[in-house]
Amino acid sequence: MSADIIDGKAFAAGLRGRVGEAAGAFAKAAGRPAGLAVVLVGEDPASAVYVRSKGKATVAAGMASFEHRLPADTDQATLEALVDQLNADPAVDGILVQLPLPRHLDADAVLLRIDPDKDVDGFHPVNAGRLASGLPGFVPCTPLGCLMLLRDRLGDLSGKEAVVIGRSNIVGKPMAALLTADSATVTLAHSRTRDLPSHVGRADIVVAAVGRPNFVRGEWLKPGATVIDVGINRVEGGLVGDVDFASAVEVAGAITPVPGGVGPMTIAVLLRNTLVAAHRRAGVPLDDATL
Ligand code: NAD
Repeated sequence: MSADIIDGKAFAAGLRGRVGEAAGAFAKAAGRPAGLAVVLVGEDPASAVYVRSKGKATVAAGMASFEHRLPADTDQATLEALVDQLNADPAVDGILVQLPLPRHLDADAVLLRIDPDKDVDGFHPVNAGRLASGLPGFVPCTPLGCLMLLRDRLGDLSGKEAVVIGRSNIVGKPMAALLTADSATVTLAHSRTRDLPSHVGRADIVVAAVGRPNFVRGEWLKPGATVIDVGINRVEGGLVGDVDFASAVEVAGAITPVPGGVGPMTIAVLLRNTLVAAHRRAGVPLDDATL
């Protein structure tokens, strides 16, 4: 039997459409569009592509995009001064500093400098704390996108066994916190986990965020499991995920492909977070259940 393919591209397009409609209503109510500022330091080609597509998607959703490109030799003080300026700018609702930063820069210090209420990437420790405490804040875009796909596929996640593989601050940890908040029983596996296949074999939900091509094998899965593959690995012949798709598709009940699964969700959720930030900052109510 072959798994259903979870079409993240179509889901993301739907979300972007809903965000676009709500962004139009916000601009009317607030007398200004919602605004997202993206900061890119240096010339990393992959980062430049991400920044360009974020800018395009922001404008396509009817929001203002402010792009700041700084040279690779920018110093810490200059970058932090730009963040301060964006924190103070009333037209800017969301601030995203594209990672990775050049090595001489202290990324943690830059992220700490961002106003948590404009931190639409959800990387600020204040937002990590809010997520852990069940308070409203901003949740990192990729795991929130994964949660949306899971809810869409499975409905209520209450009582489901979930295994998240990877404990990064950007994906694994917030993913585990989101699933816990949705009352799943969560195991957070990582590089020191013993006998990973035995954990994966119990899971109704598997989220793989490891960064190793084709790492999770179909034979490890419980038949019918829902598999969310966050990995983006460049190998000879193109992009592959962290899950060995060919074997997993034979065992899983549903699986995200790479590309076309989780990837398109990240920018769509970024736009959603920016719109939520704009509403909160302007004091305009938003029915975010639709987003
Ligand atoms: P990371 O390198 O920060 O973390 C990887 C995690 O995997 C670590 O916590 C580590 O403990 C765990 N790990 C490593 N080897 C392991 C092993 N043998 N067994 C179990 N766990 C192991 O990576 P990240 O930033 O969380 O990203 C993970 C993957 O997701 C990467 O492929 C990245 O490109 C991708 N990613 C995709 C998106 C998207 O938009 N789709 C966004 C962010 C990251």
